Amino acid sequence: MTTTATGTTGSLAADPVTVLGLGDMGSAIARAFVERGHRTTVWNRTASKCRPLVEAGASAAATPDEAVEASRFVVVCLLDSAAVDEVLGSVTSSLAGKVLVNLTSGSPSQARSNERWARERGAEYLDGKIMGDPPDVGTSNVSLSFSGSRSAFDAHEPILRELGGVAYHGEDAGLAAVEFLAQVAMGYELLIGFLHTLSVVHAEGVEVEAFAERVAGSVAAYPPLLTMMGKAIGSGEYGPDLGSLRVQAALMDDLISHRESLGVEAVRMREVKELMDQRIADGHGGQGFSSLFELLTKR
Ligand code: NDP
Repeated sequence: MTTTATGTTGSLAADPVTVLGLGDMGSAIARAFVERGHRTTVWNRTASKCRPLVEAGASAAATPDEAVEASRFVVVCLLDSAAVDEVLGSVTSSLAGKVLVNLTSGSPSQARSNERWARERGAEYLDGKIMGDPPDVGTSNVSLSFSGSRSAFDAHEPILRELGGVAYHGEDAGLAAVEFLAQVAMGYELLIGFLHTLSVVHAEGVEVEAFAERVAGSVAAYPPLLTMMGKAIGSGEYGPDLGSLRVQAALMDDLISHRESLGVEAVRMREVKELMDQRIADGHGGQGFSSLFELLTKR
């Protein structure tokens, strides 16, 4: 039996949806569906978190089974893959003909395993990964990557777009997680380099805040460079981006010795220098920075 604040069910839009998991993100997703007029059924392990959604117009299900039975379109947004396994593993009602959209963060292999699990039960599976904050769900500040069933994506793209910007990466269910992890990793790779650089600036007695502002201006040059490097790697034609490796390698010695003289970690600079030296030794000293990719893929 489902309950709503008004006692009504089925009077809203034609596409009923179910949301399993009402943490910060799941609640924001459920609220977006309610606000857009979907008959929304929610379930959460801690039942009290259903109350604000019920007050907004959703129906609360007492069990995952009951929630799954309420809609053909079922969204899962739990803490992690262990929670997904636990909750979906407890579902005994039929999943045949359902569309299961898992918006829980996780790995590509977990997504592929979920896809097999859903397919064996006759459900279509879409794996989705969210970039953005819960309060921004329903706006273009949130972007969602999807992979898995193409037909499910095509049929339900309008509903998915109600949550934010969407992109479909392919039938391999793991691809949305690949995209998500790579995008997140890119941020961390960049930011740890930024923090090490700030520690160099700090060690030299330069004001960190003012430097950060200056460097924020100079990184504006990077987006075109990233695109150009991607093209060079795609084509295997490595022009001298950032200058030739021979010239860049000479500069690396200064960067390394400067860091070491200040007692600042130089591990990444040494890695870059090592790769440049190898590439030069292999006869590619006239090529640019993007050509180091060739060595990374051989490791
Ligand atoms: P929360 O910590 O706010 O909520 C976690 C949810 O998972 C709760 O509903 C919790 O239930 C449930 N849960 C955890 N373990 C279990 C379990 N063993 N069985 C049943 N339910 C369980 O997380 P968010 O809502 O913020 O995040 C959900 C997903 O969204 C995560 O994968 C996260 O990485 C992703 N995401 C979150 C973002 C954010 O900014 N919040 C941004 C982008 C992605 P209970 O209430 O009972 O504890």
